[in-house]
Amino acid sequence: MKLFSVSKAVHVPKFKPAEHFSNIVEVDAPKNMVYSLSQQHNLKCVPTVKRGDRVLVNQILGEGENNSVVPVYSSVSGTVKQITTKVDLLGNKVDVVLVENDELYEKMPRDTFNYETMDFKALQDAIKQLGLIETQNLSNRKRGMQLSFKEKAKNVLLNAQESGLYGQVDGYLYETEKEDFLRGIDLLKHLYPEANITLLSTADADSVIGFTDLLKNTGVRLISKLPTQFYHDMNLASRDVFGDFAMKDTVVIDAFLLPAVARGLMDNRLTHYQLMLVNGEAVATPGIYKVLSGTTLDVVMEKAGVTDPFRIVAGNILSGDAVFSTDAPINRGIREILFLKENEVSKEEEVNCIKCGRCADVCPMGLHPYELNALVIMRDFESFYENRGGMCVECGRCSYVCPSKRHLLQSFKTAKKVKR
Ligand code: SF4
Ligand code: SF4
Repeated sequence: MKLFSVSKAVHVPKFKPAEHFSNIVEVDAPKNMVYSLSQQHNLKCVPTVKRGDRVLVNQILGEGENNSVVPVYSSVSGTVKQITTKVDLLGNKVDVVLVENDELYEKMPRDTFNYETMDFKALQDAIKQLGLIETQNLSNRKRGMQLSFKEKAKNVLLNAQESGLYGQVDGYLYETEKEDFLRGIDLLKHLYPEANITLLSTADADSVIGFTDLLKNTGVRLISKLPTQFYHDMNLASRDVFGDFAMKDTVVIDAFLLPAVARGLMDNRLTHYQLMLVNGEAVATPGIYKVLSGTTLDVVMEKAGVTDPFRIVAGNILSGDAVFSTDAPINRGIREILFLKENEVSKEEEVNCIKCGRCADVCPMGLHPYELNALVIMRDFESFYENRGGMCVECGRCSYVCPSKRHLLQSFKTAKKVKR
């Protein structure tokens, strides 16, 4: 039996064999939509609407003051009821726009453009305007998508790896969103005509078969086995696939967002939904859920028949976060939510480190987590950084393998917040 912990000290006693899901469950948008203006790590938008305004699908509700913040769009038509502050899934206070959905889904027309004639700067801005959030820069640090795209690259890496411990979510890329995924590959070939394009999938047999079939005749190389198992961090993925840690010549694209980029640039269509895995023993109907942005978690819970969860984890089980509030909006970029029963969560307590070194063996950054943890416990944050603690990519592997259930990941997340 393996034990592992996630942020806020959730331990899960069972290693669950990954299930493969391809059924998509559509969640009807509720009457009361809640749009968070803080979708990106440490960055927020300011509202561009006011109470009483009628808004349409595609209308911007909030925009960033800084160029790296992507806009927040309305996914429904309706009336702005309030602009207020609310607690988000993880217990942080965020500004939100509350919209009463009139269920007419009237759309705001968008200006047309031709991406083929755009210069790089205009193209990057068009990608930013798609409002997409990617999560592959340091596991939970969500950022706006435009930053992934560089003007020139020798290598393009499409990262389709997810933790997969509670089920693979990549099936929708080669099943449901197949056509737009292939159009996305055509787009990448247009943007980077000289580059080698590689797709990084999990080693799951269904995924390898699905992607092999999808990529035939595209010239895209498939890689599914690498020294470390899951790539939440793009620098790490770039290092292990192309030996280019500084990402000088490499562009890493979040494969899960590629179909939305294709629709956005080739058809000028925004994607207002996200697809995410809903699983755990408290869920009556596990599967991949299609959820409109602005939907709160309790709406998804009702649809999935969630009863009496003991713990809820947003994000993958290795590095996700314990959920604090369920009437909060699901941030864009979350691709997995687990509802765990008490029997799935270990009651075993953290005990002393036995200096077995397993955490150091699995750390993809070559860190010594047991030493770093001791420094954090002593609140010696200076030494934490001198010992490269700031390089931790928050993958959670050290906590996962630790036989003493040390809360290593939690400790490093805390230390990095103190420094900031
Ligand atoms: S210290 Fe732990 S969480 Fe950080 S990179 Fe290493 S294994 Fe991952
Ligand atoms: S895996 Fe756990 S017990 Fe082993 S050295 Fe690391 S912190 Fe200590």
